[in-house]
Parts: sequence; structure tokens; C-alpha cells
Amino acid sequence: MSKHPAKEIQDLQFFGEYGGVNPSISDSSTYTFMTAKSMSDTFEGETEGCFLYSRHTSPSNLYLSSALAKMENTEDATVFASGMGAITSTILQICQQGDHIVASRTIYGGTYAFLKNVLPKFGIKTTFVDFTNIEDINKAITANTKILYCESISNPLLEVVDFKLISELSKKHKTKFVVDNTFSPIMLQPANHGADVVIHSLTKFINGSSDAVAGAVCASSEFIENLKDVNTGLAMLLGQTLDSLRAASILKNLRTLPIRMQKHSQNAQYLAEQFEALGYKVSYPGLKSHPQHQLLSNYLSSQTGYGGLMTIDFGTIDKANAVMEMMQHQNLGYLAVSLGFYKTLFSASGTSTSSEISEEEQQEMGLSSGLVRFSIGLDHDIKETFTQMKKAIKLVERDKQSSSV
Ligand code: PLP
Repeated sequence: MSKHPAKEIQDLQFFGEYGGVNPSISDSSTYTFMTAKSMSDTFEGETEGCFLYSRHTSPSNLYLSSALAKMENTEDATVFASGMGAITSTILQICQQGDHIVASRTIYGGTYAFLKNVLPKFGIKTTFVDFTNIEDINKAITANTKILYCESISNPLLEVVDFKLISELSKKHKTKFVVDNTFSPIMLQPANHGADVVIHSLTKFINGSSDAVAGAVCASSEFIENLKDVNTGLAMLLGQTLDSLRAASILKNLRTLPIRMQKHSQNAQYLAEQFEALGYKVSYPGLKSHPQHQLLSNYLSSQTGYGGLMTIDFGTIDKANAVMEMMQHQNLGYLAVSLGFYKTLFSASGTSTSSEISEEEQQEMGLSSGLVRFSIGLDHDIKETFTQMKKAIKLVERDKQSSSV
């Protein structure tokens, strides 16, 4: 039985070169070898204890990687220059020409665009299905399917997958079950429920200060070794390497992730309940009205809450835009993409982070143009925030009413 992920982070002990309470930052792109033989051995794959070149890995990247592996309860991890770097390297590491992927139809727009627009150039096809429907996934699997790909809580519809059922299906068909856990670090550990590879955009909650772009893959030691292989590893060869300075700063921010996730979740839960009670079309996995509320409750690590993301469907893009502009004007958050910041961030997904998905497909999956995704911040007094948000929305509604008279 693994420890709680928050405890794993609390228990980390990485010391600096001179006994510093933070590990020293590796400020080198290359490393000396004591003998020529140890250099050639390292190129042959005998990299144990040796650093070669910082595109391969660096001490700072290894500290962050091992902390993330502990958090996700996987054997190992490796870090990338972006979440997309982690996603694209993982997919290309697993798939060959002629292979097939079954992916959730509600995923981050960049991932969707890569699967839909880029992979066909390499002879790799993707079928997009509703991942809350196990029968649909089953039907889409072919003899060439190598990956079942989804997000644990999907962007932006906040649908939750049934890890256990999908991992059983994945094992049966000998595919790799790859889960992007960006929306739910600490809350959920997909590897405990059968995921083979867990991906993060560290850019979001894990770093939490919107000052860095980074990604990670958490998986078995064998998979991580394959990614780093000097001859065939795509972490090594596509060159999407995280800089050591950034790795060090992200590791420091990781330490406060458990309390930040708790606060994001408490604040989002409160706002979701209040806005739902006012009659707004709110989606939040912590609401009893959310279709997978019970399912997610069964998978959550204890007392972490249901995350910092919620959506409100304002019906039309005009109203959504007016509400977001008003909220920004009232200093209730920023009209910005991304998530996990101390301030609330909001964007209309259909015309921003999911704009890669055609309007027709958006409609099919139930993504309305008026849907606003909120990444709820760490507001100290969320009741006051609610009062102010409600006022801002009412102002927009009054303006819209008077202009239509
Ligand atoms: N995965 C999810 C769920 C995301 O929301 C994003 C970005 O918004 C990414 C991956 C890509 O991460 P990055 O921007 O760090 O490349």
C-alpha cells in the first residue's frame, strides 16, 4: 500500500552539496568522466550513477523526477520542457507506423490536434470516443491499437473516467493505458488504478505560479529508460529537455502542492454549490449532480477534495465574454488560459484551449460556445469572492437585458 501522495512529498529529503536544505542546482550541460571506458560504457546504456549530457538528464531533473514518481506511485519518472513534450514523446515512443490509438474525445486541444493532424503523417490513426462509455472504447479497439489515451478529469468538460474498467480493457487488448493527470495531482493516482503511463503538464497546479512551462511522464523504470535511451529514446532524441534551473524551482513549488490543491478544491466546491443553487449550469466533480461524482469519490486519495476546475455554461459566447471581461475588470481573476494559479483564471474553452476541435465536433461532445472554464484561485475569503462574482454576472445580465429592450 503506497503512502498518501502528500506524505510522500512531505517525506522527501534532498540535501544540497554543503548540507543545504534544497538540493544544489546542476549548472552544467556536460559532465566529466574519470576514464574513457566509463564514457563509452555510458553510451552503451550503462548510465547508472553517471551523468552524460544534460539533454539526457541532470541531477536537478532527477530530483524532480523522483519526487514526481513518488507522488504518482510509479517506479520512475522523467521531466520535459512542456506537457506537450511529455505527451508527444510518450505517444511516439509507443507507436510505430500503422498503429492505432483510441483517445477520449474530450481532451486538451493541443493533444487533440497532435493526434488528429500530426500523427496521420506518420501513419498513426486515432479514433476519438466518449471515454465515459466503456462499450464505445471497446468497439473502437482494433488489432493495431497500442494506446488507450485519456485525461483523468477531462479538459474542459470535467468528465471522469473509470480507471478500473479501462485498465482491464487495456490489459485484455495488450495496449498501454496512458492518463494525463494534469487536472488532479495529489487528488488521484491513476497508476494505483491500472494506468501504465501518467502524464503531467507541470505548468499547471504542480508548479502553481504560472512562471514556467514543463511536463513529466511517470511510469515503470523500463518505460522511462526507453524514453531516455541514447539511440531510440524520444525524450533524448526529440530534445524536449527541461532546464535544470526550472526543474529546481518546480521542485520547490511542489512542496506546497498538497495544501494548494486542498484550498483550490475548497474554494471551487463552495463556488460550484453557490452558483448551482442560483440556477446556473455548473459542472464540478464535487457536486452531487455531476454524472461521475460517485465514481470519482471512489478513486480519490482521502480528503483532497474534487479539484480546482469548474465550468459554468452562460449559453452564448457573447454573454461568456462579457462576464469574463467584467470579472477581470472587477479584479476577480484573469481572462487567461492555463490553470493552477493563485488567482482565478477563466477562458471560454470553445474559442480558446479547445479551438483546435471543430465547431461541429464541439457540439457533438456537448461543448457549448458559452462554456467558461474557471481555474479557481486560492482566495482567502471565498464567500466575499462569491458575492463579488455574483454582482459582476448580474451587472452583465442587466446590461444585456436593457440593450435588448
Ligand atoms: N494536458 C492538459 C490537460 C492541459 O490542459 C495542457 C495545457 O493546457 C497540456 C496537457 C499541455 O501542457 P503544456 O502547456 O505544459 O505543454
